[in-house]
Amino acid sequence: MIYRPYRAYDAGIFIPEMRGFPAPSTLYLLLGSNRGDRIALLQQAREQLQQQAGHIIRQSPLYESDPWGFASPDRFLNQALAMETTLEPLPLLAVIQRIETALGRRRTGSGYASRTMDIDILLYGDRIIDSPFLTVPHSRMHERAFVLRPLNDIAPEVIHPRLNQTIAALTAACSDTGKVDLIKI
Ligand code: AMP
Repeated sequence: MIYRPYRAYDAGIFIPEMRGFPAPSTLYLLLGSNRGDRIALLQQAREQLQQQAGHIIRQSPLYESDPWGFASPDRFLNQALAMETTLEPLPLLAVIQRIETALGRRRTGSGYASRTMDIDILLYGDRIIDSPFLTVPHSRMHERAFVLRPLNDIAPEVIHPRLNQTIAALTAACSDTGKVDLIKI
């Protein structure tokens, strides 16, 4: 006799809503560090995100880029991550800022500055968010090569929900000439 599962649960398919859990959302983050032991700081950020925010499902290689918006000899290491999370965007932002602080980030007021850890929310599913604390998709992501290069490695087909273009198309069209170098570790 052939056993035919008659419910998704019996077929081994776990549907979170069936158990009262919210379904996870896929989001994309950009990590950046230009102070301290940058490689170790990126690793600690990934570990803390896994512990506090969700599951990392993809990660780009590391890139080194010139600071954007301020002059400094200290170049940034950047990495894009894809994560699954059940956190809503604002609680996620709070977790991210706590991790930035734990990794030595000191907010110096307005403007761009060197930092041990910067974590930006680039995309959160296909959500469009305009709140005083959070703009998603990140407002300047499509203008910056240091964001698009790593993001394009892990999400070329993903669509920017405000611009209705894929990350691959935005990367090809980006005119930012800032230097972004792939790092071989
Ligand atoms: P930053 O200096 O890059 O850490 O960002 C400064 C502020 O940007 C934070 O206090 C956030 O409230 C705000 N913000 C707005 N949109 C975003 C976003 N998509 N990801 C991260 N921070 C954001």
